[in-house]
Amino acid sequence: MARLVLCTLLVAALASLVGCSEAAPQRRKRKPVDRMVFHDAPEENAYERIPLPPQRVRVQARPNSATVGNVAGAPTFQMPTPVCQPPKDQPSKSIGPPTDGQLVDACRIPCQGPGYIAVSPNAFGTDNTVALLQLAAAQVNQQFQGVPSVVVGAISAENGGFLKPHKSHQSGRDVDIAYLRTTKGQPKRFEPTDASNLDTERTWAFLEALLSTGEVGWVFMDYEIQALLYEALLDNGWTEQGLAPIFQYPAGANVARGVIRHATGHADHFHVRFRCPERDKPECVD
Ligand SMILES: [Zn+2]
Repeated sequence: MARLVLCTLLVAALASLVGCSEAAPQRRKRKPVDRMVFHDAPEENAYERIPLPPQRVRVQARPNSATVGNVAGAPTFQMPTPVCQPPKDQPSKSIGPPTDGQLVDACRIPCQGPGYIAVSPNAFGTDNTVALLQLAAAQVNQQFQGVPSVVVGAISAENGGFLKPHKSHQSGRDVDIAYLRTTKGQPKRFEPTDASNLDTERTWAFLEALLSTGEVGWVFMDYEIQALLYEALLDNGWTEQGLAPIFQYPAGANVARGVIRHATGHADHFHVRFRCPERDKPECVD
């Protein structure tokens, strides 16, 4: 009980520090002018509002190509059971699109678990969202020992609906996650991330664990950070062809390509949007 109270207090204290991401992009340093042109996106956060592509992207064992769509031979992913706090009996239900949705019988992700800490009070997701986050965090935790935990920020409010300051995050399927960084110590909040401190290996391991499930609809990520990951993967034996279904980079920050897309305000965290759970369709809208 004492631990629970402590945990709750800690979450409340951290939440006041974190506020999730898009709340404070103005505090980041502006990039030099030439690089701003490089980032020229047609509309701020345009991808927050567009529907998902019809095909799933599934990453297979690296450095193999990404597989687009549910092709024959692709392994069938078995959704794990989430750990919710408190435990619950009813399955969750995601209703509507991420920008105008609701969430019923949400799973609250515990404030910590193997490989992650969850620092936002808006820690309510679908069962699938929480299960997938816990799966990816545990895999990275196993792969890289003695490293800081992944910092999970806002998912949705308990019953979904509008969540200031986000456009989406309304139906339990959007998650903000801090980039995994090379800096020492356990981060408690999102920090501006660039070539000097991005841990490309661990960040990709986390993303790869999610992408390999075929359950990711979009990842919103600053174009320059896409470039850092992309180049690191090429150095690791991936091919441009293999990365094309995954990354928008290097096609351009306003080009409709890949699952990972540029959106403003995503230099200190990335945003993962999961697809609708099959059982929630058709009320759930991708
Ligand atoms: Zn977000």
